Amino acid sequence: MFDTLVGLVGVADCTDDDLVELAAAHARAEAAHAERKLAVVAELARRRRVWGESAVGSVGLAEFVAAEVAVGLSVSTGVARHWMSLGYTLAVQLPRTRQALARGVLDVARAQVIAERTVGVADPGVLAQVETRVLAELSAPGITLTRGQAGHLVDRVVASVDPGGVRAQRQRAVADREVTVRPGVDGMATVWGLLPAADGAGLNTVLQEMAVGVCPGDPRTLAQRRADAVIALSHGQQSLGCTCGSPSCPTPGTPDTGSRRRPLVQVLVAAETLTGAVDLPGVLTGFGVLDADTVRELACDATWQRLLTLGTTPTQLGPALPGGVVADPAAYRYSPSTHLAALVRARDGHCRFPGCQITARACDLDHVTPFNHHDPTAGGLTTTANLGCLCRWHHRLKTVGRWQVTQDPDGTQHWTSPTHTQHTTTPDGLPPWGYADDDLRAPHPPSETDEPDVDPPPKPTPPPDPPPF
Ligand SMILES: [Zn+2]
Ligand SMILES: [Zn+2]
Repeated sequence: MFDTLVGLVGVADCTDDDLVELAAAHARAEAAHAERKLAVVAELARRRRVWGESAVGSVGLAEFVAAEVAVGLSVSTGVARHWMSLGYTLAVQLPRTRQALARGVLDVARAQVIAERTVGVADPGVLAQVETRVLAELSAPGITLTRGQAGHLVDRVVASVDPGGVRAQRQRAVADREVTVRPGVDGMATVWGLLPAADGAGLNTVLQEMAVGVCPGDPRTLAQRRADAVIALSHGQQSLGCTCGSPSCPTPGTPDTGSRRRPLVQVLVAAETLTGAVDLPGVLTGFGVLDADTVRELACDATWQRLLTLGTTPTQLGPALPGGVVADPAAYRYSPSTHLAALVRARDGHCRFPGCQITARACDLDHVTPFNHHDPTAGGLTTTANLGCLCRWHHRLKTVGRWQVTQDPDGTQHWTSPTHTQHTTTPDGLPPWGYADDDLRAPHPPSETDEPDVDPPPKPTPPPDPPPF
């Protein structure tokens, strides 16, 4: 009875029982709204695909619809792709599930479980059988299944209706394996991974063995030692050194720092912080602010070689002078110097497309206004004012030409989407006190991985594994 009153009934007027029923009514309305949102997003993707297939010169438009959705709804590209994929699956392959969602009988999480666990079922007739049986069980009176239980239910039904589908599903699942590392809070990062079950179990065993391989005097918790084991593995070490500090420790470990891989990590720091004269925080490029103590600790560790010191006094950014005169002839060369490339990457911190967090070190350097190879004085210059970091995917998106971008001298970028919405991004790679001026210098020789050259504009070819739009 509450479904028609959602939004009208005041909470204060409800008994406790009524509140539960009202919350359930809101949940049903939420599911119905979610179904509409997914349907709309899927429709946008469908139109882009139709357009992309029929219009000359629009290659890549369908591929980049996720960017439009992500920027328009302020979500990550991953979330946008997920919504598009789920909306498409519900619209085309799982109509019964879509209807259950629209009626609020099912929530998005369980609709997602059905979509995920039936990807390997190719036969529409079999899929309809699976869907009908699963929905009947999920919506049976008195049945409340968690997301995990709902997943097992779908697996059991699929296995009974279509034994061959289980194998196909397994192959599809393995194809989705991935590991991501994202910036966390307080100078931390989060690591998330999806691995085949056996390999996940194997990794778990390795971490456990490394974590318990130290002596009982080690002061770290098991959780801390497991985390340290992951770090040790990333350095190519097979065991964890004990930190008990006792000279008689039976498992002191022998971390071979000489053979440790040097991580390609850039730390921006004030020279005065390194000497201890001030306590200005630094920035771990792409991951955020680090306190002064941590920065000094990293600076003392020979394995963290890429350290850039910054000035703390603002100076002119870029060589452009009033009247269009350019002081530096290097602005007329296509490839930026190592110094300029480091400057732009330090300034930007990450990809400059709205919402993208791909670290600048993994980005292409893009001439916002294209460089003119025939007449360099007539095109975009190779300066901080005209260079910006773009990840390869967003670089290709820009090259396709449906998104427009301009850049201010300070690096602020103004993007216009294919539907003419405006989005501004500002560079935020530098610490609040830092200035990417001529004081920016690398105290260590640049490694060979520091590409001095600007990356050529990528070709707008479709991805090898296009989404179903
Ligand atoms: Zn020990
Ligand atoms: Zn990007």
